[in-house]
Formats: sequence, C-alpha cells, structure tokens
Amino acid sequence: METKQIKIQKKKTIALVAHDHKKRELLEWVRENEKKLSHHELIGTGTTATLIRNNTSLDVKRLASGPLGGDQQLGALISKSKIDILIFFWDPLEALPHDPDVKALLRISTLYDVAMATSKITADYLITSNLFDEEYNVYVPNTEDNVENRISDNKF
Ligand code: PGA
Repeated sequence: METKQIKIQKKKTIALVAHDHKKRELLEWVRENEKKLSHHELIGTGTTATLIRNNTSLDVKRLASGPLGGDQQLGALISKSKIDILIFFWDPLEALPHDPDVKALLRISTLYDVAMATSKITADYLITSNLFDEEYNVYVPNTEDNVENRISDNKF
C-alpha cells in the first residue's frame, strides 16, 4: 500500500466516544484530564459530546449520535486525517444495533494509525505520554496513489 507522511501538530484533534454503560467512566476520565484536554480540539458523537459539554468547561464539537451515523462521520474524518487521537470507550458486553459502524471505526482508526484508547488504562498511558503535546510524523494511506494503482493493476 502506498503511504504518505503527515505531521500531527502539537495541538491535536481528539475524538471522544463512549457507549452508554461506559459514558460515566469516560466523563470521569475527561474531568480528571480537563486541563490537559482544554489545549486541544475536541469532537464527539452526539450524546457523548453533549454529556461532556454539560458537565465540564470543555467545548466539544458534536457529531450525530453514534447509532445514527456519528461513528461513520468520525470514520470519514479519519480517512481525511482530521482526527489525531480517538478515545473510544466501547462496551464489549453489549450487542449494539450499530455494531458494523463500531467495527468500521476501529478498523479505519487502525488503518490510518490513529492513536486510540479503548479503555481508561490506555487513555491514561496516552495522555501522560511525552508525545501527547508534541508534533509527531505518521504514515497514512495515500488514497490518490492507491486509486491509480488499482486502476492500472486491474483489467476493467
Ligand atoms: P453517542 O454515540 O455518543 O451518541 O451515545 C456513541 C456510540 O454509540 O457510538
């Protein structure tokens, strides 16, 4: 796969998502880290974003609710390298109607090498990393080259 290097800036765009049984845990984590998070751009799925906005001093840009397309909106932003970090407290004990969207979000985040935490411990490690507030170079798929290669490789 063709890749290209992009530079993640010091000021990052951080996506916040939590399934219903994990929302309280995410809210507590955000409160614990409110000062540090306030230096970055925050975005979240509908209910998660509203919960954080109503219970902290943080401004969180709100997408659609997860089950109504919010996870897919995040995936689209990730494919345009507009999300640097994903804090995604998903629930491994509950079957959800938008399970395909959840899987898609996990997949696209991995493909675009988004720093991702799916639980408090990983989120703690991430936010205390020296790299959290630094620039960082990452390789992501070069979507344009991939299209050209696929057209030349295939006998359409
Ligand atoms: P919500 O979506 O923040 O709107 O609850 C989260 C999800 O279920 O993906």
